[in-house]
Amino acid sequence: MANAYPITDHSYDVLVVGAGGAGLRATMGLAAAGLKTACITKVFPTRSHTVAAQGGIGAALGNMADDSWEWHMYDTVKGSDWLGDQDAIEYMCRQAIPAVQELEHFGVPFSRTAEGKIYQRPFGGHMRNYGEAPVQRACAAADRTGHAILHTLYQQCLKYDAEFFVEFFAIDLIMDDAGACRGVVAWNLDDGSIHRFQAHAVVFATGGYGRAYFSCTSAHTCTGDGNAMVARAGLPLQDHEFIQFHPTGIYGSGCLITEGARGEGGYLTNSAGERFMERYAPTAKDLASRDVVSRSMTVEVREGRGVGPDKDHILLHLEHLGADVLLARLPGITETAKIFSGVDATREPIPVLPTVHYNMGGIPSNHFGEALRPSADDPDAIVPGLFAVGECGCASVHGANRLGTNSLLDIVVFGRAAALRCAEKIKPRQTHSPLPKDSAERALARIDRLRNAKGSLSTSQIRLAMQRTMQNNAAVFRNQDVLAEGCRKLDEVWSTLSDIRLNDRSMIWNSDLVEALELENLMICAKASLYSAEARKESRGAHAREDFDKRDDENWMKHTLAWIDDNGKVTLSYRPVHTYTLTNEAQYIKPQARVY
Ligand SMILES: Cc1cc2nc3c(=O)[nH]c(=O)nc-3n(C[C@H](O)[C@H](O)[C@H](O)COP(=O)(O)OP(=O)(O)OC[C@H]3O[C@@H](n4cnc5c(N)ncnc54)[C@H](O)[C@@H]3O)c2cc1C
Repeated sequence: MANAYPITDHSYDVLVVGAGGAGLRATMGLAAAGLKTACITKVFPTRSHTVAAQGGIGAALGNMADDSWEWHMYDTVKGSDWLGDQDAIEYMCRQAIPAVQELEHFGVPFSRTAEGKIYQRPFGGHMRNYGEAPVQRACAAADRTGHAILHTLYQQCLKYDAEFFVEFFAIDLIMDDAGACRGVVAWNLDDGSIHRFQAHAVVFATGGYGRAYFSCTSAHTCTGDGNAMVARAGLPLQDHEFIQFHPTGIYGSGCLITEGARGEGGYLTNSAGERFMERYAPTAKDLASRDVVSRSMTVEVREGRGVGPDKDHILLHLEHLGADVLLARLPGITETAKIFSGVDATREPIPVLPTVHYNMGGIPSNHFGEALRPSADDPDAIVPGLFAVGECGCASVHGANRLGTNSLLDIVVFGRAAALRCAEKIKPRQTHSPLPKDSAERALARIDRLRNAKGSLSTSQIRLAMQRTMQNNAAVFRNQDVLAEGCRKLDEVWSTLSDIRLNDRSMIWNSDLVEALELENLMICAKASLYSAEARKESRGAHAREDFDKRDDENWMKHTLAWIDDNGKVTLSYRPVHTYTLTNEAQYIKPQARVY
């Protein structure tokens, strides 16, 4: 096989896969520590999905009102519905403050208060004094915070000596017989060449897999490639059943209207013009956490109080805020509303619907960003040489439901943590031992099989069948029949993968092949999600089962692990949640009822 596809070899101290916020923060830190670092990315760095993040990054700076990292930690644990690992949550919430200050010093153009401090807005689930009332914790650059952060981090990377391999598509990991990760095989989309990257550590920062669904806010590139590469390497995926629906995707297109819109005072109404969130979450109202708001909206629609001719959506009001506020604080979403729903948000409400937005689950990792290979003997065993940070990872700081603003935070905090850990463990220019002889075979066989596939179904036909199954069978509300049917249907879709047809047989900018590789990756993520959801007989965070409508801490306060083999067979097991803190300055937060 290798003869048919000549290989170019590279060796680095560390290889980062992905150039979103997580990948760039890691790359910058690694290069700054003097490690020979490469970053490979399938899209130009500043086109990564992080660029689309709108509302803000969470940190208890206390610029506008009293706040503390302890409250932030409490909100995050509560938001996670007690599935988050409290040591990692403590680490993230404490690091948030220096992390945002660091971003400011790097040059992120945050919006400002009258005194010149970083502007902070309220966001769902972020409260003061252990749940008393909403607090202003989301540090924002208008409604383009991700754009500001991503561009700043890319500029910082260029300052150091990191090498970028842009429009390189990572196919598979290179693992050795001892179970350590040794590198990655990638395809240069531009000239069709194959590259083998050897490194002492590989940092995955490949983002989420929102595109497993028909309607999502994620970019088309969010196809779970990292998660799938890890699964193909025989490692498990954690908590894939927890998928966040954002309450305010634009009806029809799914484009996001940031929660910052409700942070600025926007509110939701049903067909009777009622502000229904007051009934579901009397304290936080429209700023309850996302799973709660999405479920409430779904109940309103189901019970016949949806708006529009089909009574199938909800209205988001911003018009009372005034054109000045919208222009200063929410210019991006005012434009988005105009383009995608033809609505002038300064005058009329925006039609919205809960839309898939974020993957809480991913590659199990610890608070250093190290990827895990949990076993019964050691649920926290690491995979030597492999890290996973950002949305592809599962540290697990978001548990069963992520709070808004905690992902931009997660990516910079754990991107940095991974770089620090590598700098601790790896000496610059350490020698490499030779790679296993057949190290590229698996990746090349995958390319070759797909490139020459002559079946009867197009990639888009199979993808649509998968997306519809996920949309219908792994939705906001779930039950046994619907989930079991989903597993069956997904198995059927999986079996059609062997009947795929590609038309383009070339290696240069073969988008047909890219999409087929991505589809295989999405299928692995989807399988892990549906099977894990079917097995979890309780409701927790974003996993809301009508047949088991209570949280069951006794039996289910544990992380799901899903192994998916090459034939699509799913094997599940579980590992304990970390019910301890990292330092004794933080207090373990005991499970409580979750009310907003
Ligand atoms: C519309 C929208 C708005 C959001 N707003 C907010 C917000 O206001 N606050 C907040 O906290 N969170 C927000 N989020 C969530 C947050 O933005 C994301 O979770 C986060 O940015 C993910 O960053 P990442 O670095 O992990 O991945 P991404 O930014 O998705 O980057 C993934 C990278 O991996 C690369 N890659 C993937 N596969 C491969 C492969 N096979 N080979 C090579 N490279 C590959 C890509 O090229 C890309 O560079 C929002 C999300 C969306 C979709």
